[in-house]
Amino acid sequence: MSENSKHVIIIGAGPAGLIAAQELTQNGIQVDVFDAMPSAGRKFLQAGKGGMNLTHSDPFDIFVGRYRQRQDEMRPLLTRFDADSLRQWAHDLGFETFVGSSGRVFPTDMRAAPLLRTWLQQLKQAGVRFHMRHRWIGWNDANQLMFQTPTETVCHRADAVLFALGGGSWPHLGSDGKWIPSLVEKDIQIAPLKAANCGFECDWSDDFRAHFAGTPVKTVIARFTNLEGQLTERQGEFVITERGIEGSLIYVFAADLRDYLAEHGQVTLTLDLLPSKTESAIRAILNNRGSKSLSSQLKGKLGIDGVKAGLLKECLSKADFLNPNTLAAAIKALPLSLLRTTPMEEVISTAGGICFSELTEQLMLKKLPGVFCAGEMLDWEAPTGGYLLTGCFASGVVAADGIKAWLGAQNG
Ligand SMILES: Cc1cc2nc3c(=O)[nH]c(=O)nc-3n(C[C@H](O)[C@H](O)[C@H](O)COP(=O)(O)OP(=O)(O)OC[C@H]3O[C@@H](n4cnc5c(N)ncnc54)[C@H](O)[C@@H]3O)c2cc1C
Repeated sequence: MSENSKHVIIIGAGPAGLIAAQELTQNGIQVDVFDAMPSAGRKFLQAGKGGMNLTHSDPFDIFVGRYRQRQDEMRPLLTRFDADSLRQWAHDLGFETFVGSSGRVFPTDMRAAPLLRTWLQQLKQAGVRFHMRHRWIGWNDANQLMFQTPTETVCHRADAVLFALGGGSWPHLGSDGKWIPSLVEKDIQIAPLKAANCGFECDWSDDFRAHFAGTPVKTVIARFTNLEGQLTERQGEFVITERGIEGSLIYVFAADLRDYLAEHGQVTLTLDLLPSKTESAIRAILNNRGSKSLSSQLKGKLGIDGVKAGLLKECLSKADFLNPNTLAAAIKALPLSLLRTTPMEEVISTAGGICFSELTEQLMLKKLPGVFCAGEMLDWEAPTGGYLLTGCFASGVVAADGIKAWLGAQNG
């Protein structure tokens, strides 16, 4: 590092901040990374616990479409750094990746910890300085960045700054959204943080909850028509929880269900509990049961028992459950009423954040020249499937490009 090399402060040691640190250091820029937590990348590590889903093998246009209302803003970022770039990054660190049956991309050992460990080692060797237990709390009158450590308040300035402070879920891992007031004070427009990739709460009876909380509901089709009138239909599975439902099938619909709830105060997800049979075939089987009870016919001839039978009883009146015609119709289109999203603290990611209108194409805040932003703290959302991490990496790389250009321009 040369004596007169430029100096950048990155606040937030998640994937968005760390990839920017890597890009900048490779260009001879001195980087100091500050984070409120005792160690770096805690949410990244957590993401690896259920299998580190780094990215997705979707064709590029489909991949970009996953960012829904923000696909126009995300397209240039993903053009700069896409799923293949992320796989190459892992490869360069010494970790092979593979495409799972769902098209999701994982490191071969599925784990985040070895990857993060190697990454941090390389960053430190490259000269990145880490300052943990430093919570950014705003600017002082001299426009320096103020950090609260366990013992004191310290102030720093740099030639450029990158905020990569994350969203608002799992706050005990560090990203708690407490950065919002400091940026609002600077007149930065921020869309309120909202639960994304979330479960939903239902009004389960005590009996249903006691029997089925924790039980997966397998091979069902869920259908939902969103506020724009688009019908989405997807086969998969979800889990009954103490308070409602969650799981990969639900996350597909989560943003649409959440937005509909916000608009109408209630929302209904429709479930086909037996995709392999038509309603008329089911009706015929239920009507031709001789002396058998409906429940035993459901179980014996249709394979509906346990949690699926429990759901039918939970959602239908007794009269409708005992009527073969209404029961057949409900098996194919069970209306499941959802009350609210699960609390933001428990969800995988959050929507909302710094509005793109506040940012240049290189992710610099127009109102704060030299201050850049990246990662989940920007106002985009995506379903699970590796799109979240890819969006964080892509925005981190674009912000690093922007910082390089900004520093170059300052040099004259
Ligand atoms: C359970 C779980 C599973 C997930 N699984 C996946 C997955 O398989 N695939 C996928 O693509 N995504 C997954 N995600 C989402 C993914 O982990 C996040 O989108 C990603 O980590 C966000 O990166 P980021 O760098 O923007 O922010 P973060 O990783 O949240 O990092 C932000 C950092 O900023 C620090 N910080 C915040 N405020 C301050 C402050 N005031 N001062 C100093 N430091 C501060 C925090 O301590 C934190 O270290 C998962 C998330 C969770 C919770």
